[in-house]
Amino acid sequence: MTNSENLFKEAIKVIPGGVNSPVRAFPSVGGAPRFIKKAYGSHIIDEDNKEYIDYIGSWGPMLLGHNHHEIQAAVVEAAQSGLSFGAATKLEVTMAKSICEAVPAVEMVRMVNSGTEAVMSAIRVARGFTKREKIIKFTGCYHGHSDAMLVAAGSGALTGGVPDSAGVPKGTAQDTLIAHYNDIDSVKILFEKYQEEIAAVIIEPVAANMGVVITEDGFLQELRNLCHTYGALLIFDEVITGFRLGLGGASEYYHIKPDLITFGKIIGAGMPVGAFGGRREIMEQIAPLGPVYQAGTLSGNPVAMAAGIAQLKILTEDPTIYQRLNERGQWFYQQIEEMIQQKNLPLTINHIGSLGSMFFTPNKVRDLTTAKMSDTKAYASYFHYMLDHGIYLAPAQFEAMFLSSAHTREDLELTLEILSGYFEKLPL
Ligand SMILES: *Cc1c(COP(=O)(O)O)cnc(C)c1O
Repeated sequence: MTNSENLFKEAIKVIPGGVNSPVRAFPSVGGAPRFIKKAYGSHIIDEDNKEYIDYIGSWGPMLLGHNHHEIQAAVVEAAQSGLSFGAATKLEVTMAKSICEAVPAVEMVRMVNSGTEAVMSAIRVARGFTKREKIIKFTGCYHGHSDAMLVAAGSGALTGGVPDSAGVPKGTAQDTLIAHYNDIDSVKILFEKYQEEIAAVIIEPVAANMGVVITEDGFLQELRNLCHTYGALLIFDEVITGFRLGLGGASEYYHIKPDLITFGKIIGAGMPVGAFGGRREIMEQIAPLGPVYQAGTLSGNPVAMAAGIAQLKILTEDPTIYQRLNERGQWFYQQIEEMIQQKNLPLTINHIGSLGSMFFTPNKVRDLTTAKMSDTKAYASYFHYMLDHGIYLAPAQFEAMFLSSAHTREDLELTLEILSGYFEKLPL
């Protein structure tokens, strides 16, 4: 037995499923998960000293690669001054300014400890500000695991209201209305029916939790217009896209101004951090200024802030990082696309910048329904082939590949070579 297998055996006795977040248990690809002991740059190393090129990047935070020396130094320095004070710090001011300066739609921001918390709080403030209760979300978009958002985070019906998880009260789920990605009519129908009851529409401006799915031309703008017409707020969940598509995230990339934006992942550089921000008059509704309560013992934690600030500082000071990363991503995914075309394989690749997904279906993937046409068994066999050859991909079809600026041309070429070897073994 490998060390990972032994650890997994121990883990399942004391941790549900042996993991602290379900996807890590490899539920959809089978086999024992790799236990990771360290990582640097584009590589991670497991407890059996096997080294992999990592395309998960901790699910997004590692935009500059693992254990970047400047970020590591900032964390060590902050830790030397104390781990938490439960009081205001200079670091929080620096962090808030970094976010507000990078993202034009954000005039004020509050720090929390995860993306889940950021979304949960943004929804509360949207409801408090509009004095309305219903929220529209899209099938296949994931917004963390708060009750109101665990509706059609997988598949769902148009009028929705059916929870995806045991333990979510029906009453809570009923206020979450479900629309379909890239289908503006599904949003219009809900607005026409519920009108002034809708507090906000929340969307991943690039969906990355049903695999990568990109909005079609004009969709986000139409959403912006509809929210405006009906007096609802538009929330961009940029927990993945924030500081990934570019310094200004998706709102800058698409030139759309949402009312609120949620962040996580990259802004913590690997520490548990989230944030939500937006228009000043909305953010001023939050306690202690306004009636919307929101708090956190460890929010704005100095060590976490130091990590995030160090990462954002590097990205702000050298804008060519995004240019190089996005060009490399474009090249890499295009190479895969060409292989697929040359060999006429029943696969589809969606990509934008450093994010991409290869779906095991020949049809165009534009929403959850089309994503779900993928052959997940074929994905599992692909995943294990790549893993055996030292390529660490997401252990599920409906996740993204995350490139970092630490992925070298050689890393990508090696990956393509291994992928090509896999394709040689097909038919699937
Ligand atoms: C990861 C993610 C979340 C949840 O963030 P956690 O830090 O895991 O709570 C929310 N929204 C999106 C778009 C995400 O990708």
